[in-house]
Parts: sequence; C-alpha cells; structure tokens
Amino acid sequence: MISSSSGSDGLSRKANIFGKARQNIVDIAEALNVPSYRGKQIHEWIYTKGVTTFQDMANLPRSLQQDLDQKYIIDYGRVLDSQLSVDGTRKMLIQYSNDPKASVEAVFIPEDHRGTLCVSSQIGCSLSCRFCHTGTQALYRNLTAPEIVGQYMIAAWMAKDFPKTLNQRPNVSNIVFMGQGEPLYNFRNVSAAVRTLTDKSGIGMAPWRITISTSGVAPLIPRIASELNVGLAVSLHSADNDVRSEIMPINKTYPLSQLMSSCREFVKCASPQSQRITFEYVMLDGVNDTDADANRLVDLIRNLPTHVNLIPFNPWPGSNYRSSDSARVLKFCNLVRSRGIHASVRTPRGDDILAACGQLKSSHDTKKSAATI
Ligand code: SF4
Repeated sequence: MISSSSGSDGLSRKANIFGKARQNIVDIAEALNVPSYRGKQIHEWIYTKGVTTFQDMANLPRSLQQDLDQKYIIDYGRVLDSQLSVDGTRKMLIQYSNDPKASVEAVFIPEDHRGTLCVSSQIGCSLSCRFCHTGTQALYRNLTAPEIVGQYMIAAWMAKDFPKTLNQRPNVSNIVFMGQGEPLYNFRNVSAAVRTLTDKSGIGMAPWRITISTSGVAPLIPRIASELNVGLAVSLHSADNDVRSEIMPINKTYPLSQLMSSCREFVKCASPQSQRITFEYVMLDGVNDTDADANRLVDLIRNLPTHVNLIPFNPWPGSNYRSSDSARVLKFCNLVRSRGIHASVRTPRGDDILAACGQLKSSHDTKKSAATI
C-alpha cells in the first residue's frame, strides 16, 4: 500500500500517492507517472509480495527506485498496539496520518480451517446501538479505502501471508466488515476497498469470503449483492419493531418491514455462494430472549436463506445489559432450529482483550489489561 504525507515513521513528508490513486494497476501507474508495465510491476510487489519499500522492488531500475523513494512511502498505517488473547485472537490498534484521534481496531480470529479478519470502516460510529461499546464513541470520520485495505495488509503481514504463492492457503482467508462503524454509511470507500481486496491481479480474495455487516441501512443492502457480490450479515437483535427501535435507533429510520424487503431484494441479486444472509442476534437478558422472541424471529426470516448467529452479550465497562444465561441461549437456539432455521451460538473470541463482538473502541483506555505483543 502506497501512502502518505505523514507516514508510519512519523517524519516523512512524502506524497500520499496511495491516498489519491485507486489501488489498481492503471491508477498506480498514472499516479506515479510511470509506464503501465511499471505500474503492473509495482502493483505486484505491493499486493502479492507485500513489499513496503521501493528499494526492494528488484525489477525496477535503481534510478526509478530512488526517485520513487524520495517522493513516496508505502504505509499500511501505524500499529500502536497489538494484543494476543489466550485463544489466539489478535486485536490491533491502528493509527492513520499520525492523527491521535484517527485510530481504529481490527481483530484477527484464527480457526482450524480459516482465519477471519474483522475490519473497521469508520472511526467511531454515529448509530449508538445500546449494546455496543463502539456506539459510545462518537463518529470521527470515515476511513478511506486504503485505510480499510491497510488493515488487511497489516494482518496478512502478521499472519505471514506474504509473499503470496500460487495455490497458497492464506492464513487471513476471510474478511468481515464487523468492526467499528456502519459500513453502509461509508459505502463509496467500502466498495473501493472490496474491489481492491478482490482484484485478481493483486490480493485476489474470493468475493464470497467477504461479508459486509450492517445495522440495517435498508436502501443500500441490495447493492451489496448487485455491485459488490459479497455476503451480507444483518445485526438484527430483535424481531419486534418496538424493541429493536429501543436497542437500535436506526430502526426508527428503517423499520423491520423495510429492512426485510431489502433483504429479499439482496437474495434476488446475490450469487449462489453469497446468498445466505447471516442474522446476528445478541442475547440480552430480559430484553429479547424469550420463547416468544424466538418464534417472532423465525416468523420474520423463515422465507429467506439464512443463518442465525446467537451472540451471548459481551459486557464492556459501563454497559447496561446482562447476557442471557447459557441455558436460555441454548433453549432459544434449539427453538429456532426446531422450526427449520440454521442457528448456532457464537463462541466468544478474544473477550479477555475486549476484542469480542460489540466491544471494539479505539480509545486508548480500553486496551490495557492483556499482554501487549
Ligand atoms: S453495532 Fe455497529 S452500527 Fe451499531 S453502534 Fe456498534 S458499530 Fe455502530
């Protein structure tokens, strides 16, 4: 990733070529003012070999290496902190442009057969979902496409995925836009980032390995399928319109009826591999966890290809909710399954480092307790 006027070294005043160019071969060539075959070479060094200095681009003439090196840097963003959970989950605090307020968290969750990177799309969030720690952090700004892709580049570096080789099984195999922010309120940059992540001449991730999670920005949901061809997760959390409005204020703008109609449209446009919608459902004691709630949920989604992901609430400092107990979560899950809907209970990951679902917040006071790597 080519970056920036204030690079990770904190001293650089080199031009932010990456911030200006879209991250494909043609735009890199134009932005660097080099012939297209050089743009192709540079693009390959960056995205398939993970090279971060022009001097390491062995097939560029020395004079060009030096010229580029004087003008530009390759900067993924600065890792301020990286914490490793006892379960192998890693949370990274990443800062951009040397702006102390411009930092987000990304989380890498390794599993037996895949490794999922949870990326952020905004710094803070404007939506204030009541159960979400990020919702207590005001929106600062949208992330740019390079800043979003940079989270992947950092995680892929840490997971030793570079240089990429043919038929390699990458450690960072999947990406979910489930970190800080509402991705559909930053649709333009999220779309550009998805295009870079799926560009076959570079990172080349299969679109169905990417999932965009939304709190319910209904008008944009069909475009996740028709324009980006990636998967959809919906933070649902209640099938009762009033309860949902109470815990997720966005429901007052896009109520359940409108949300479900957009989900049906998504399914019509989606490729077979990305068609199944994941409905996220955080289990809040006494709020949304009765048998009646489970039946209401099934009635709402039964005609869609779905998976229900039940998430025991992950407490954070100052939160007002308690998680439903494990017997209640299990009964809720079994009830949903008994009516023919795929459902599972998410195993909490990284909760010892506040990296679990709904816990991300990039203020520095949230990152102290676990070992810093
Ligand atoms: S759940 Fe998502 S949309 Fe809601 S406050 Fe948290 S980050 Fe924002």
